[in-house]
Amino acid sequence: MIKPKVAIITGAGRGIGAATAKLFSSHGYAVCINYKSDENSANKLAKSIRAEGGLCITVQADVSCESDVERLFSTVDKALGTVTVLVNNAGILKKQSRLEDMTAERINSILTNNVTSYFLCCREAVKRMSTRHDGLGGVIVNVSSGAARSGSPNEYIDYAASKGAIDTLTKGLSLEVAAEGIRVNCVRPGLIYTDMHADGGEPERIERLKEIIPLQRGGQPEEVAEAIYWLASEKSSFSTGNYLDLAGGL
Ligand code: NAP
Repeated sequence: MIKPKVAIITGAGRGIGAATAKLFSSHGYAVCINYKSDENSANKLAKSIRAEGGLCITVQADVSCESDVERLFSTVDKALGTVTVLVNNAGILKKQSRLEDMTAERINSILTNNVTSYFLCCREAVKRMSTRHDGLGGVIVNVSSGAARSGSPNEYIDYAASKGAIDTLTKGLSLEVAAEGIRVNCVRPGLIYTDMHADGGEPERIERLKEIIPLQRGGQPEEVAEAIYWLASEKSSFSTGNYLDLAGGL
């Protein structure tokens, strides 16, 4: 029997991660749906994937916590087999604020959830994928943001800077492991319809900003998932260290 390819998608219970988990499953991947606190959404997604005949597990793990990340990857080793694709997607946003009102606690929370988490998951993936460690290779796709380019003034420079770090992580790691069978790329979504904007204190943010998007609309999580899937697939086999912007031209 041919073993299915295994994808770990962090923060996959909702939003872009959930659309990505569904898409990977539809392409025959065994999928690990990681979530932090919304168990209900993760279980609902797993149920719908299984109803379509897909193979998946849900794993609660706070990916900003080192021991949780180690447990996440070892759980997948045992339940699904060695990871072949990691999608670093989990992320948080805090209320819109100017920089002079940001506390160290807020800034550190953004950085550990959005940056440390990606580093830790990349570390565990590289240990398993790299030919240097007798792995068979693999692909990492990081979910950054158009905010890395815009800087998000008056809204959340802390979040934008965390995504800038993900762009740099993508570049550096892609070069570090290029000769070891691992490709590392990045998607940079613009305004996508998910719950995240409510966390920023403005659930209708996309409606306010729609007019400045050249395509005149926000994006859907499924449109981001397609780009992630392409970067994870053999169709993008000569791409590494690259950024794919999905922002409707913004
Ligand atoms: P979302 O709907 O708010 O979902 C965020 C997901 O991340 C949730 O599943 C959440 O888990 C998970 N998560 C957060 N912190 C975590 C942690 N420490 N450990 C494990 N899981 C954690 O947001 P989204 O819009 O889909 O965002 C997905 C990614 O896209 C993020 O990296 C975000 O920065 C990026 N992005 C989004 C947009 C946009 O317009 N929506 C634009 C650019 C980039 P629970 O469900 O358990 O809470």
